[in-house]
Amino acid sequence: GAVHVTVSIGICDDTIPVARPLDRLQYADTAAYRAKRLGEDRQVLYDTGLHRESVEYRRVESLLRTALEEGRFVMHYQPIVDLADGRPTGVEALVRMRDRDGKLVPPGEFIEVAERSGLIVPMGAWVLAESCRSIAALHRSAGVPLRVSVNVAARQASRPDLVTAVYRALEQAEMPPDALTLELTESALLEADASTLDRLNELRESGIQIALDDFGTGYSSLAYLRQLPVSLIKVDQSFVGTMTTDPGSAAIVRAVTTLAGDLGLSWVAEGVETMEQWQALRE
Ligand code: MG
Ligand code: MG
Repeated sequence: GAVHVTVSIGICDDTIPVARPLDRLQYADTAAYRAKRLGEDRQVLYDTGLHRESVEYRRVESLLRTALEEGRFVMHYQPIVDLADGRPTGVEALVRMRDRDGKLVPPGEFIEVAERSGLIVPMGAWVLAESCRSIAALHRSAGVPLRVSVNVAARQASRPDLVTAVYRALEQAEMPPDALTLELTESALLEADASTLDRLNELRESGIQIALDDFGTGYSSLAYLRQLPVSLIKVDQSFVGTMTTDPGSAAIVRAVTTLAGDLGLSWVAEGVETMEQWQALRE
């Protein structure tokens, strides 16, 4: 049969000054990477804008590497409460990074670089182990059963060792599988190949919940909702945050929560900050 081939080209010409010839090759490679990210089959010229971005990328990447080596990630836990009575039922584990001066770096500044560089894999393993360990310890000392929700990136989910990594974290924390929820975004689930879906199914069958994160912001494919190994939908905070002021957002929240109920799935509304939002959700 015929094979259709396209080419993505990165160009770095001599208007960009370089210290070593190797730098020019690396810059061209960065431009080629951009060409692929823009949808392939095109050429991209390495310019000052791309240069600024790639310097920033390298800065954050090296910050992440040293933070990993020096153990400078910290966990923040956001409560998940029962809408009926306000009782806490669990927490979502959110990773933060400290820079060398001890200042907290917001996740918006490093998550994307962590994903692109692959550093999300060792980082995610630490987050999973640390979250299970501290929430299980809290459960034992306070006697309050709490679930912990841990965000899992596409690159973590696609690794063959996902299942053993999760079981190991649970075992070391002495935590039952039904106290753990793994949150995956819709795009991560849509990217998932058959063996990744098998792994998620296996985890779900062992009692772990799989949550569809940030629902409503991606493709929001209703057909996939039935096929994916999902037990819980998280309504994206962009709708929850505006549901009392924007009837359109309120309609989306109503539709998603009704749909979840009809499909036999539970749902969590993200980012509830006012009593009005709380009341609207209860209704
Ligand atoms: Mg999440
Ligand atoms: Mg979310």
